[in-house]
Amino acid sequence: MNSGVYDFTDNGKCTQCGACCSNYLPMTQAEIATIHRFMKKHGIKEFKHLFPVSGDAYDMTCPFMDDSKQKEKCRIYPVRPEICRQFICKGDKKPFRMKATRYEVVDVRKEFFGE
Ligand code: SF4
Ligand code: SF4
Repeated sequence: MNSGVYDFTDNGKCTQCGACCSNYLPMTQAEIATIHRFMKKHGIKEFKHLFPVSGDAYDMTCPFMDDSKQKEKCRIYPVRPEICRQFICKGDKKPFRMKATRYEVVDVRKEFFGE
């Protein structure tokens, strides 16, 4: 951990571990529409990542993240949003720049699977 950020990279290269794959992501309306189309075309299903707990729990991991795999865990990789393309968990990297300004934080599970 460096500067409050865990580094799961291999010398700065993303290992595709999926640890940063959150259920809450900033997206544009265009990105949302593109993902819906991709899901319909490829029959993308929801992935759940619940751990055994005694009470109710909410899955905070992105529902597109297939953690049964070692790599290539993102099931919408070709159309993943800009935030996923740019983010790297390395504290000394330059801050990423989003190309568009109209982002809203999306509850991914709710938006794409209606939960
Ligand atoms: S950017 Fe995300 S997927 Fe890549 S190494 Fe860091 S935590 Fe893992
Ligand atoms: S869309 Fe893909 S890369 Fe982005 S958080 Fe979800 S699983 Fe991870």
